[in-house]
Amino acid sequence: MKLVTFAAESGPRVGRLDAADQVHDLTAELPPGTDVLELIERWDELSPGLDRSGRPAGTPRLLAPIPVPRADVVCVGKNYADHSAEFARSGYDATSRGSELPQRPVVFTKASSAVTGPTDDCEIHADRTAELDYEAELAVVLGRGGRDIPRERAWDHVFGWTALNDVTARDLQRDHKQWFLGKSLDTACPMGPALVTADELPPAQLPALQVECRVNGELRQKAPVADLVFDVPELIATLSAGRTLRPGEIIATGTPAGVGIGFDPPRFLAAGDLVEVGISGIGTLRNRFR
Ligand code: MG
Repeated sequence: MKLVTFAAESGPRVGRLDAADQVHDLTAELPPGTDVLELIERWDELSPGLDRSGRPAGTPRLLAPIPVPRADVVCVGKNYADHSAEFARSGYDATSRGSELPQRPVVFTKASSAVTGPTDDCEIHADRTAELDYEAELAVVLGRGGRDIPRERAWDHVFGWTALNDVTARDLQRDHKQWFLGKSLDTACPMGPALVTADELPPAQLPALQVECRVNGELRQKAPVADLVFDVPELIATLSAGRTLRPGEIIATGTPAGVGIGFDPPRFLAAGDLVEVGISGIGTLRNRFR
């Protein structure tokens, strides 16, 4: 199923996208007040029949599928070899001692307050940064929580997938050494358009998915998920080692080559730019920067 959260007069509502990308409102099918996080937690109980249910909702504004995550988004840096190399070459990586690939996953977080919808305008933040950049990424949403999850059982803990733009202020990322501030400006985490459940898009199909980014229609990034340095089971095993993962937690798996600082000279985002982040089988984010 493709789950969405959409805006209604009464507040956010949970829905599903059908094969024609029409939104169906699932509010009446769920216990009163159920949001997407509760639906994820009670999936086995609440989901039977949902994929054929709901009232047509027209063309509402989609919010991020998880509009208010319970925790910050966990992100993985330098997880595509070509991007790791371009980042090292750029001079912006204050943590690097060379272009070599990381030996273990590089993990940081992005403030949950940065999450925004798949078609929302994003702030260009001209008063805070002159170097705003895009990063197209596959995001994993956890279903069952757990700790010390071995890679052989990692897929059992995946609820589904979504697309995410890990918008980054490169000057803040570089100057503050740690990446949290540069990654966490308001609207720096467009997400969606749908949360595609793992039964609809099984893990075996994951490697073939293409992660793409276009700026004003120009293709900047394109790589298959197969190119991940540390794959999804490895990331879940690493992130759950001695730490409890919770249902609904979001893991952004890293970005391919072709970000703005990969160019010489760098090509940063400007006011008016339209950034499209798409993943085959999941959908496309379309955010205008203003
Ligand atoms: Mg990233």
